[in-house]
Amino acid sequence: MVTKPAIVGGEFLLKEITPDQIFIPEEFDEEQRLIAESCIDFVETEVDPYFDALDNHQAGLMPSLLKKAGVMGLLGISIPEEFEGFGQSFVTNMKANEAMGSAYSFSVAFMAHTGIGTLPLLYYGNSMQHHKYMPRLATGEMLAAYCLTEPGAGSDANAGKTKAVLSDDGSHYILNGQKMWITNGGFADLLTVFAKIDNDRVLSAFLVEANTPGITMNPEEHKMGIKGSSTRQIFFNDVKVPVENLLGKRGEGFRIALNILHIGRIKLGATVLGGMRRAINNSVTYSGERKQFGSPLSDFGAIKFKLAEQVILLFSTESAVYRASKDIQDTIENNLEEGKSYGEANIEGVAEYEPECALLKVYGSESLDYIVDEMVQIFGGMGFSSEAPADRSYRDSRINRIFEGTNEINRLITVDSVMKKGLKHRIALFEKAREILAHIDLLEAVDFSGDYYRIKKDQIANLKKVVLILLPLAQDIFQRKLMFEEEILMNISDAIMNIYVVESTELRVEKLQMMDKKQIELYKDMLDVLTHSTVQKVHQAAFDAIGSIVEGEQLIPLVNALNKLTYAPAFNVKESRRRIANQLIDDGMYKF
Ligand SMILES: Cc1cc2nc3c(=O)[nH]c(=O)nc-3n(C[C@H](O)[C@H](O)[C@H](O)COP(=O)(O)OP(=O)(O)OC[C@H]3O[C@@H](n4cnc5c(N)ncnc54)[C@H](O)[C@@H]3O)c2cc1C
Repeated sequence: MVTKPAIVGGEFLLKEITPDQIFIPEEFDEEQRLIAESCIDFVETEVDPYFDALDNHQAGLMPSLLKKAGVMGLLGISIPEEFEGFGQSFVTNMKANEAMGSAYSFSVAFMAHTGIGTLPLLYYGNSMQHHKYMPRLATGEMLAAYCLTEPGAGSDANAGKTKAVLSDDGSHYILNGQKMWITNGGFADLLTVFAKIDNDRVLSAFLVEANTPGITMNPEEHKMGIKGSSTRQIFFNDVKVPVENLLGKRGEGFRIALNILHIGRIKLGATVLGGMRRAINNSVTYSGERKQFGSPLSDFGAIKFKLAEQVILLFSTESAVYRASKDIQDTIENNLEEGKSYGEANIEGVAEYEPECALLKVYGSESLDYIVDEMVQIFGGMGFSSEAPADRSYRDSRINRIFEGTNEINRLITVDSVMKKGLKHRIALFEKAREILAHIDLLEAVDFSGDYYRIKKDQIANLKKVVLILLPLAQDIFQRKLMFEEEILMNISDAIMNIYVVESTELRVEKLQMMDKKQIELYKDMLDVLTHSTVQKVHQAAFDAIGSIVEGEQLIPLVNALNKLTYAPAFNVKESRRRIANQLIDDGMYKF
């Protein structure tokens, strides 16, 4: 039977749900674990030995590894069986991406091929296009790239100048223009190219075979990190694209590009988990081996702090990514049951959770950056040496805040998509928010004397109220000009993001308690530290926002309400972090 998600996208701000209504990573079944293990085995045996060779662009190495992954079925995990894939679910696909995520540049190439490279065709292609290309992409016979960005069109993707003109005989489009930063560009066989037909205001999408005459490219870009991934500028000079290779309808390209990016964002949230795991394992190993002042580094409190923070960031990202993934999967399955086509069901299923996808991209990429930065610090001078693994982790992490939409753009999307859902009455956002704002004097601090989980839920509910105060306030004061108040939007976005993550973590820990999980006290330590820091982050973000929205006397009731809603007593956060770090040190690797 198909499960209905408890809440639609963005609705977490309005409703409290129970642990049985979310999926947690401890619930992966045997098959999902086996698929993840196959990916991990592949990385360890086929990719790990070649990290240096990949970074040095050894000729043909990256495409040959991708093709090897194809032969083993790893490129087709989520592709339907009719196209020679394995038809696995959304959640399983995320798990596979996580498993591949520790493979540095290879994971970028893998993600580009299986995600932005393949999905436009899978979801928007017609039957002829599917049969011509899908099986070849699923098996790695053909490799794919996604060509949206141009020199003048990055974040503003619809500003592209690449142009398509129908030939006189109507048999093909003639493509002229330039794309840049194209991942897998150097070896991809099939390009999804976004271009405007004639003087259209919006983009269309085309499937372009890379060996078509008129396509040329610049040499590989010299990059700060992910040096092994191929990144090229591609030029289209009178390139003839058969009319049957128009993907979707004329003018549908921008929508295709955006919808594919939603998926890319949550996939990135899953992929960074693999990088986090590798970085944490290296951090704890080194801190146990390296001695200073007669003790291993891991004996020092300052290092334990870093190790504990690393663990909490991985655990919390993971909690949120798989919660959202399962909600998306359930929505897709419901869509299919309602009779929507495969493409529609998937696209709409993911688009429903647009706020969650955007915030997970930001939280995941920034968490990985923190983890690898502290890894460099734990390694000290060796962290700065290219002989040690911290160097590659650090350099390769940075791109995640830039591609799949920069983190600034994704922060804007988080707020914008939540507000749109409210304005369209898809969620009762403004109704609830106005009620809270109207009775702001009645808001109460949490009663910290009750049940452990009840307290946490009440704390999180109060943080949601903070956001529900900020949204209508900003909307009323700035109205249509709110979009120009980006600093405030960033504040609100940070609050929303941290609330989703802490709530996902709370629900996971509560569910683990119900499952009688061992070491539950350590999970509670993680939740305690995360809640403690989230309350402070939300307070800071809201305090900045309120002061930037209103002034004078108007500030008083708002600041009073904020102080009540974010009140939390002090506790021994140092000991909580120490216990988490000590467990990591005892285990010698991340095993939470
Ligand atoms: C290694 C690599 C691989 C890539 N792979 C691909 C690929 O395969 N296919 C593809 O099509 N593209 C790809 N890209 C492009 C990538 O998606 C863009 O770099 C990204 O979208 C940002 O665009 P930009 O570089 O032009 O930066 P800009 O848009 O110029 O942004 C510069 C800065 O300004 C900020 N900014 C811009 N607009 C706003 C705004 N309205 N409000 C607030 N801040 C704003 C940005 O957040 C950023 O901090 C890749 C890029 C890199 C570096």
